[in-house]
Amino acid sequence: MTRRGPGTTWSRRDVLRLAGLTAVVGATGGLAACGSRDGAGPDPSASSPPSPAPSGSAWSGTRSVGDAQQAADLVLAGAQAAAAAGSFGIAGAIIDNSTGEVVHRMENQVLRRLRPTVTADSGETFTWDPTAHGERQLVYWYFENRDRLALPPARDLTVVTSLDPCAMCTGALTTAGFNAAVVAMDTFSGINFRQDGRFADLPQPVRGAVRETFGYYAVESGRQYQGGRSVAFADTAIDQQVYDACEDIYQSSAKAVRSARKTTNTPPDQLRDPGTWKTAAPIRSAYRRVYPKAFTHRLKDFRRPDRTLRRMLEELVADTAGADNAVAFIDPFGNVVTAAAGPLPRNPAATGFMTASQDYALTRFALVDDKETSGPARRALTSPMFGTFVWLVAPDPRATTTIEDLGGFGSTMQAAIPQATPSAFQFYEPPRRGTARELRQVAGSLPPLYSQLVKIDPQRVGDA
Ligand SMILES: [Zn+2]
Repeated sequence: MTRRGPGTTWSRRDVLRLAGLTAVVGATGGLAACGSRDGAGPDPSASSPPSPAPSGSAWSGTRSVGDAQQAADLVLAGAQAAAAAGSFGIAGAIIDNSTGEVVHRMENQVLRRLRPTVTADSGETFTWDPTAHGERQLVYWYFENRDRLALPPARDLTVVTSLDPCAMCTGALTTAGFNAAVVAMDTFSGINFRQDGRFADLPQPVRGAVRETFGYYAVESGRQYQGGRSVAFADTAIDQQVYDACEDIYQSSAKAVRSARKTTNTPPDQLRDPGTWKTAAPIRSAYRRVYPKAFTHRLKDFRRPDRTLRRMLEELVADTAGADNAVAFIDPFGNVVTAAAGPLPRNPAATGFMTASQDYALTRFALVDDKETSGPARRALTSPMFGTFVWLVAPDPRATTTIEDLGGFGSTMQAAIPQATPSAFQFYEPPRRGTARELRQVAGSLPPLYSQLVKIDPQRVGDA
């Protein structure tokens, strides 16, 4: 059997599909259901370009906030900083419910600028970590620092975010038990994409957790408050300007990110094989520092995981304290590039998939950002959308970490992926609780990014 040739026939079509879906979202989503613009005439902030980022101090210097408006102004400043850095214009902050203290803040860092010595195009951005959304990073930061800083329980804290959390961040936030407060809506990848606050597509008990802990701030003369009452500043409102600005900075930054990305997603038929190319030795070494067995095994077909890979994943679980699952990433040549077990003992949101996706991307970024390895890395490594992720055990359809994994998979793929059979999302064992069919249903009813663009289709190894 010949290896399927992703990237040969679909990339132009899918770029167009991405554009089409975005247009649909732009036409029907966002403020349409907010209603506050009805009869208010043209809104000057909607048609003008986003205002320049304020001085960094608004983002980094604010020590505490006293109401929803101040919290929204803070995360807007972070979103502007993220966009100015070339990433998605979204940001979030952990607020202490009882004091209003800004405990920590993180902006989206999915893309970062490469250093000038590795690019002819000054200011070029490159995917740093597809999972580096503000909220997900705040959850990881919390688990890393909770004991050292004696932080309050997550239920007493609120992650305020400029844009409705995606599936990955929703999974991470509910796994940790945070409250979440939302400024602007995202009808493409936001968990409240239907905007009714019911989350009817989510499985229980995730749905119950989101209903209880997520809140959508009231907008003056617009949206009513929607959500749980344990959210910080649930009884105060934000103005339409900060809502519009949070939405606009995201939309304009996403446009820039999409065009930047076109140059970094090299189709496999234009790649050198990093498993055999002599010049790629430093690439293999870099991945072995993360996963010692990187590039020691090659599948005959990158979409057909074999018994050896299964043994490698079982070994990883056995060697990782607290882990009950592991995930491998296979490149389009069939190389096992990286694999990771999870969850990690100190961080229940650090699943094997999340770590594998992060390891692949962060190592790739470091190689591209290094003058010695930049050229070979660009010629041998591409977006994970051209590869395969393999779970030892399918995620439990009712777990919060599964929403995180499915969402993280969508963010990692970033775009329409080749709908070849077998799927880019495979597992050896069915879920320990629930069924594979339920898992497919959960994936199929997530927001449009996951169900319509990426079309996540979990399949058991050997079923196709
Ligand atoms: Zn997110």
